Amino acid sequence: MSRPAAERREDLVALYKEVRACTRCPLHETRTQAVFGNGNADADLMFVGEAPGMHEDQQGIPFVGRAGQLLDELLREVGLSREEVFVCNVLKSRPPGNRDPQPDEISTCRPYLDAQVELIEPRVICTLGNFATKLLTRSQRGITSVRGRPQEHQIGGRLVRIYPILHPAAALRTPRVKEQLAEDFARLPGLLAAFAPAEPEPEAEQLGLLD
Ligand code: URA
Repeated sequence: MSRPAAERREDLVALYKEVRACTRCPLHETRTQAVFGNGNADADLMFVGEAPGMHEDQQGIPFVGRAGQLLDELLREVGLSREEVFVCNVLKSRPPGNRDPQPDEISTCRPYLDAQVELIEPRVICTLGNFATKLLTRSQRGITSVRGRPQEHQIGGRLVRIYPILHPAAALRTPRVKEQLAEDFARLPGLLAAFAPAEPEPEAEQLGLLD
């Protein structure tokens, strides 16, 4: 059963405060600030990237550098905006020099991502690149073999569609990857419509079935 959106938002704000003060892994020593995520606390669509980079670490907001600008552009092209989705990362703190997240950092930070998914209750989670995809699909299959096909998973007792796509940072380096990313984004509106909440059934009185 879904909890009221206002209650879930309150818990998300409490989680935000916890993450901002987190010292569970050594990355807190080198980060400027933790990057919780931002957007709609009751979003149907959530994006999960890898980890904050230099700009994200400075501003405290995910995907604000060049990869973020591409993410915004891809969203706009399919009629979506950053305000209506929720964007976050596997790691909430920047790894020094943007190195890959380490397995112990991922497992230490994971409860925050799980809690975000449970509180936001998205219908579709777009995993951007290998780290988010492997973590949330609980599989070692790489992004190039699974991209563009939604998978069903139970997260926090709810059915969620995980939609793995390539990471926008990879598209900045390779024009073909940008084309593939745009192709995968083009399927997003259809996916969201397919998994939209069912219309509430009319009450029996409205159908004139009762005296
Ligand atoms: N890359 C990511 O994976 N996350 C960000 O927030 C920015 C770049």
